[in-house]
Amino acid sequence: MTEIQDNLLRIKSQIPSGVSLVAVSKFHPVEAIRQCYDAGQRIFGESRVQELVQKERLLPNDINWHFIGHLQTNKVRQLIGKTALIESVDSERLLRLIDSESEKAGVVSRVLLQVHVAQEETKFGFYPEELYDFFRNRGFESLKATHICGIMGMASNTDNLDRVREDFRKISEIFRTVSNDESLGLRDFDILSMGMSGDWNIAVEEGSDMVRIGSAIFGERQY
Ligand SMILES: *Cc1c(COP(=O)(O)O)cnc(C)c1O
Repeated sequence: MTEIQDNLLRIKSQIPSGVSLVAVSKFHPVEAIRQCYDAGQRIFGESRVQELVQKERLLPNDINWHFIGHLQTNKVRQLIGKTALIESVDSERLLRLIDSESEKAGVVSRVLLQVHVAQEETKFGFYPEELYDFFRNRGFESLKATHICGIMGMASNTDNLDRVREDFRKISEIFRTVSNDESLGLRDFDILSMGMSGDWNIAVEEGSDMVRIGSAIFGERQY
């Protein structure tokens, strides 16, 4: 067994059943992904369109690719049809574009809306009030070829674990507020994606059912 496979299986054994694992393979070569694939992993996360498209071409087609990075509008068309889930929809404008391109391509795109609660201004996502407004205004009803499956979020990049937990709690509360609102009539809105290598156990404690783990599986990234 390789070190990567060892890491993967150890983490899988630690994650509670019912929580899906996205192996974040960005900046790691196809051979590293292949090792995880051979150990049974089928969900991989990438943050750049070009990289995802190239890897997708070279690897088995039963892989579920998740896009997790900031998606530039001029790259949307290339990505459509290649993903099982776009986790990082960070504006309504991007959502509308994904929808129109999906319709043109004759596919339905599954997406998560990314919410911004972290301290860093550099992070992307809907602010909580924007997100609530989007649902209150029933912005999802006019989508023709996009299904919103849930929420993705990140905690502040800090060693202060209380702060991290507080951020996850906020994201979780937003998810539950929306998913429990029966007046919205949402179907299959049931994914809460939060938690990375350094904080996934806190995220799971706060209700996450999808964790995105990169460096703890693949090692440090070579940028
Ligand atoms: C890179 C990345 C991850 C994985 O981060 P690690 O710390 O390597 O586990 C998770 N989520 C997003 C959105 C990322 O960009």
